Amino acid sequence: MDERLVQLLHHRSHGLNRGDPISPPIHQTSAFYLPDDPKDGDYSYTREANPTWTAVEAQISILEAAPAIVFPSGMAAIAAILYTQLRPGDRLIMPSDGYYGVRAFAEQALRPIDIEVTYVPTPEFGNTHFDGARLVWIETPSNPGLDVCDIADVVARAKAAGAMVAADNTTLTPLLQQPLDMGVDAVAVSDTKAMSGHGDLLFGHAASRDKDIMAQVETWRRYAGAIPGPAEAALVYRGIETLEVRLQRMCANAMDIAHQLKNHIAVKSVRYPGLVDDPSHTLMKTQATAFGFIIGFTLASKAAAEAFIAASEVTCSATSFGSVHSSAERRARWGEDVAEGFIRLSVGCEPAGQLWDGIEAALKAV
Ligand code: PLP
Repeated sequence: MDERLVQLLHHRSHGLNRGDPISPPIHQTSAFYLPDDPKDGDYSYTREANPTWTAVEAQISILEAAPAIVFPSGMAAIAAILYTQLRPGDRLIMPSDGYYGVRAFAEQALRPIDIEVTYVPTPEFGNTHFDGARLVWIETPSNPGLDVCDIADVVARAKAAGAMVAADNTTLTPLLQQPLDMGVDAVAVSDTKAMSGHGDLLFGHAASRDKDIMAQVETWRRYAGAIPGPAEAALVYRGIETLEVRLQRMCANAMDIAHQLKNHIAVKSVRYPGLVDDPSHTLMKTQATAFGFIIGFTLASKAAAEAFIAASEVTCSATSFGSVHSSAERRARWGEDVAEGFIRLSVGCEPAGQLWDGIEAALKAV
């Protein structure tokens, strides 16, 4: 039984006074009434803090079992951790097969300030020496390849080498996997994806149990000005309230669709960690409570994949994932190191039978 779930829905009601709103109001203001000594109030100016962020940070803290700081996107949370934890001359080890935006950030923002960046494929983290590294960045399962690394093992070996570990936990969310419990120093999540869940905003958070890291990240947000809007924060709050039911449906759907795809003649290969013969299955079972909602499958060619995406009436042709609406995308179109016919399918909340009927119909167009 996951005790976070009741807390997630009721934590706010414990502090309410008669007549208070049950949902957090949107504090759409740049400044707060502030006579006299500015140190006497919690809120003064929205670049520093806003009560609607406080509400969503409290909610995310329940999932992370750690303090959380919200950002206007996943990349802003990632950048805050990397910029505050790395110094010129440091060495960063990161996945060669994770979200490409983080690699682009490393190349364009970190390398020019003399941070050495080394890339390692996610399945190879178990064989990599971390000597001389300041920070080991992991993303497991990786997007889009769905490979995994052993989080506790990476943490143990990185710590022994004097390095800290940070994880991008976007693909599973803290509901399904808790890297901080496995000793990771800081996590970043793109709440644009399953956390908010409706594909209607960008948002992100960083979380850590280390007070110094959190203080540095909070100061970074305040002075870099990487702050989310109060309206987005309220939408994320509402989205997170249904995270568990959405993920239950999405993960169950994904398991079903992955099995069906595996048996389909037009499909060359399928990656879904929930399939018992998937290379990620055994390890992921030990460190996550479900296998997620992303499937990677490969059709014969670029043309076949494009024909599938165009014909499918149950998936949206879009580049994001984690929404209630299923979406499909050919990842090689971004230059990623995957087969031309590789499709990343983000499975949504549609009824399973209708979802498969639609996918099967679209596969006939291939
Ligand atoms: N991390 C992963 C694994 C992602 O897939 C993405 C976006 O696709 C990000 C981080 C960046 O998040 P955002 O688009 O909210 O900045």
